[in-house]
Amino acid sequence: MRQPLIAGNWKMNLGLKEAVSLISELKKVKPNKAEMLICPPFVDLPAASEMVQGTHIQLGAQNMYPEEKGAFTGEISPAMLKELHCRYVICGHSERRHIMGESDEFIHRKVVSALAHGLTPILCTGETAEQRNEGRTEEIIREELETALFNIPSEQAETIVIAYEPIWAIGTGVAATAVDAQAVAHFIRGELTRLYGETTAEKIRILYGGSVKAANIEDFMAQKDIDGGLIGGASLKAAEFKEIYEKV
Ligand code: PEP
Repeated sequence: MRQPLIAGNWKMNLGLKEAVSLISELKKVKPNKAEMLICPPFVDLPAASEMVQGTHIQLGAQNMYPEEKGAFTGEISPAMLKELHCRYVICGHSERRHIMGESDEFIHRKVVSALAHGLTPILCTGETAEQRNEGRTEEIIREELETALFNIPSEQAETIVIAYEPIWAIGTGVAATAVDAQAVAHFIRGELTRLYGETTAEKIRILYGGSVKAANIEDFMAQKDIDGGLIGGASLKAAEFKEIYEKV
């Protein structure tokens, strides 16, 4: 059985005071069978780490640099995240791929490094509107998966979380239909089966992300291959995120 995961990606939102206030509200939510994860900006992590200790809330980072330490100005290492009790790290979010120009190979290095440090990567995949219109969704996702997971053994692969995030659905208010999202999640599980066999593929959690809100989460969660959501905008409001979590 795969445990559902409701993950909030705050992106570059919420300074320290706002972060503290949101986490205080989320701490009041009654835990259920799903894991609740927040991924605040780096500067909020120390305070968030203290606040979520011993609660049902897991902590993750939005990014990391795949080296131990050294001359990488402005970057944060996996060991630094571990010290703050982060359990997860988002790797290859489309905003990092497209705005910061991160390649599949660089994302692969992050996945390898995160796993080596005991962090669980949430590997983001997804196609642009243009790629979708050209019928290239599966080709794009296959390439992203194959490169990111290259040479990663199944004992590690089974712990990874994959997020399917169609880029045209992120922050647009236009989510994929649950049926379309399931079709791609099913394709992803098929690719994982091809790479690792069925036993491992069945253990890997697949999230849908892209304009998830309280009004549509149940449709996604009803799908066989969708194990949770990666949620941007709707994770910034306590009441909405709480409602999403409670509907799982
Ligand atoms: C995201 O940031 O990964 C995301 C899916 O954003 P939103 O929920 O705002 O579309």
